[in-house]
Amino acid sequence: AANSLSQQSRQQQAGAMAALPIPARELFINGRWVAPVRGKYLDVVCPATEAVIGRIPAGTREDVEAAVAAAVAAHKSGVWAKTTGAQRAVVLRAIAQKVRDNKTALANYETQDMGKPIDEAEWDMDDVAGCLDYYADLAEKLDARQGSAIDVGMEEFSVTVRREPLGVVGLITPWNYPLLMATWKVAPALAAGNCCVLKPSELASVTCLELAGLAGEAGLPAGVLNVVTGLGADAGAPLSSHPALAKVAFTGSTATGQRVAQAAIANLRPATMELGGKSCLVIFDDADLDKAVEWVMFGAFWTNGQICSSTSRILIQERVADAFYAKLKQRAQSINIGDPLQPGCRMGPIVSAAQYERVRGYVQIGLDEGATLLTGGRRPPSCPRGHFLEPTVFINVAPHMRLWKEEIFGPVLSVSTFSSEQQALQLANDSEYGLGGAVISADEERCRRVAEGLECGIVWVNCSQPCFCQAPWGGVKSSGFGRELGEWGLENFLSVKQVTTYVSDKPWDWYSPQSKL
Ligand code: NAD
Repeated sequence: AANSLSQQSRQQQAGAMAALPIPARELFINGRWVAPVRGKYLDVVCPATEAVIGRIPAGTREDVEAAVAAAVAAHKSGVWAKTTGAQRAVVLRAIAQKVRDNKTALANYETQDMGKPIDEAEWDMDDVAGCLDYYADLAEKLDARQGSAIDVGMEEFSVTVRREPLGVVGLITPWNYPLLMATWKVAPALAAGNCCVLKPSELASVTCLELAGLAGEAGLPAGVLNVVTGLGADAGAPLSSHPALAKVAFTGSTATGQRVAQAAIANLRPATMELGGKSCLVIFDDADLDKAVEWVMFGAFWTNGQICSSTSRILIQERVADAFYAKLKQRAQSINIGDPLQPGCRMGPIVSAAQYERVRGYVQIGLDEGATLLTGGRRPPSCPRGHFLEPTVFINVAPHMRLWKEEIFGPVLSVSTFSSEQQALQLANDSEYGLGGAVISADEERCRRVAEGLECGIVWVNCSQPCFCQAPWGGVKSSGFGRELGEWGLENFLSVKQVTTYVSDKPWDWYSPQSKL
């Protein structure tokens, strides 16, 4: 233990040296850094060290009002809404380039802010830039789609379709992929020509504030992207209920999503909801178990299991269960857990003290419910400080247990067994959630059947978790509605207007005496 302690303090020293100072920012409203009206701030706490490393403005209703007013003025001015898709693409690509130029710093802030391993945070920044570039391409393609003709079967009429921005959109995002989840909304919203007010999670807002500054430097006009940080109740709630919004796009927990959706519908505004999950991976006994375990690890422990689509339930076919447990235990116990700023770290701390207690509470619930702890469940001895939890696997988890049913949002995996394909599908689908699902088998036809049978918005076959900005993302049941990413992400932020033109020289002739009727 002494050895590992000194190893951790050495690592923490090295990590501390690598930690960049968190920039002191204000709210970003109308292209400027603006102090919150009530002058309050929230501490930024590093989950690896539990140290206060900075602060973010605690925005409130007054700041939301100012941000929405700035966005409304920008929208009405036409400075963004009236540009062509090609013009918007230039700015989006410039923002992407800024993100690439600042990748090292942005990833460093992200890791300090919410604890994900630096290698993952750097990957996220690549994804952020890639997503901006992708929507730049779609913005450009939008120009060619403007004015597309609809055949209504009457030659007197020419009917065409314009795709217009909705107006001002409210974007509310979570902490697990702070900048990436925000970009999944900001990039398509901007590509479509909207003006935005972004409310990132109070647990991780640092990189979203940086994005706003970088977007301004890249040439995005003032007022087009505004960022109001603050608590959900103080800043998120007044944003989601603001009558000047044309739409609310939300990613977060199912409970908050219900509130946000109700606030939006009270104003008769559309909302998209990317909510929680309890995704199940089904492994058949013909699978290559080593490859399967690698995908299980990636699905369950990537970003510490703090992923909406995280592989939080495994169904393993009975015949190979014991061999699978042995391999999984060995791999989980050898994960590189510790200072997330160290390259090569594969598991950092849980995001916050409250979430740490919540996740550890689920470990106790699992034990109390009678599930078998295969591995983990403790603070790693090598990490005396910070919100660290060993990768945790419970086996013999029964379908009625809370461990099997509830979203934990941490590195706690629940495993159960099945005998037949039919039983596997029944158990996998017996969930209030329907975000992700996965199947691993050597039998392609079986994979196809299971993919078809899983009740969810995303299915992975012979893998789990990889995500591409070109493909649709979203869930069914309590995992939400609407789809982000891909062309669906752009459609979310477009208003479709029909333009019907009477092109005949003849009079319409309905009320004149000569009327046929
Ligand atoms: P959360 O619901 O606590 O918070 C999400 C956002 O909503 C934050 O910005 C928060 O400040 C804000 N908020 C809180 N109360 C509000 C209110 N009353 N009105 C308006 N806004 C309010 O979620 P979280 O803990 O930040 O994120 C974790 C959750 O997000 C998990 O349930 C996870 O599954 C989900 N998630 C889903 C996806 C997806 O694509 N489906 C992706 C990532 C995370």
